[in-house]
Amino acid sequence: MGDVGVTTAVEITERLRDEAAKGKIKDANEIRQKIKEIVAEMLDGGEDMGLITVPSIILVIGVNGVGKTTTIGKMAAMYKAQGKKVILGAADTFRAAAIDQLQIWADRSGVDIIKHKEGADPAAVVFDTINAAKARDNEIIIIDTAGRLQIDTEMMAELLLLDRMFHPDEKLLVIDAMVGQEAVSVAENFNAQLEITGIILTKLDGDSRGGSALSVVYCTQKPIKLVGMGEKISALEDFYPDRMASRILGMGDIVSLVEKAQENFDVEHAKELERKMR
Ligand code: GDP
Repeated sequence: MGDVGVTTAVEITERLRDEAAKGKIKDANEIRQKIKEIVAEMLDGGEDMGLITVPSIILVIGVNGVGKTTTIGKMAAMYKAQGKKVILGAADTFRAAAIDQLQIWADRSGVDIIKHKEGADPAAVVFDTINAAKARDNEIIIIDTAGRLQIDTEMMAELLLLDRMFHPDEKLLVIDAMVGQEAVSVAENFNAQLEITGIILTKLDGDSRGGSALSVVYCTQKPIKLVGMGEKISALEDFYPDRMASRILGMGDIVSLVEKAQENFDVEHAKELERKMR
């Protein structure tokens, strides 16, 4: 029901069976608890983006529409708020709109950007971005790359070339939580060819339980490092396996919602919201 996918669901069942065989599970409630523990454990990559080494080159990849550009804008703002100097590289030269969109996010977050014309060589953009970063003492270089509606060989070849030429410290794959199981094959494909270093899960503010995220982590063995919780610049958060496990299992992510409420409303509003949610 959480759209977790067969392979991953079977793995959970097997682990649960092992626990049961050890005589550790006595009633239905303990089963629920155990499933949650197993899911949280499987989701836990033990890493987050806060501890990124500087200077760093971060290559952001993903198919179109998943929220790649938005996420780059949010990351730029996040690192800037941490006092780091950020520069963006508009290496998605496939569509002029992508370059314009990244410029808007650079303005919004108040960071530098290097861009060339539509159709320019993406490697030349990255090269110039790295050089500019050296000259301007930028600590974090975030590179936007071309997506397509689906993975195609030309796009993959371009990404492989950037990977070999520039050896990015992070290769982050952006995945849309609303997409479901299709995200799993996309992630497996990217990971098989590019050996990604982590995943950013967007649109977690939507209704989807995001069970596909568990399959993505299980199938790639790569950690979720950040999650997108909305369209606003501040809607980027650390990933909490425990909360995500509750959400996938339909237990509701009350903790996150209440935290959000406390940030955005006064206490009375938050109480009212919590009452409604319950
Ligand atoms: P790209 O094609 O991958 O670069 O995707 P965009 O960054 O242009 O985003 C596609 C759409 O998804 C836009 O309408 C964004 O506002 C929206 N979007 C991105 N991230 C989130 C998120 O975390 N939550 C929600 N609700 N919408 C998002």
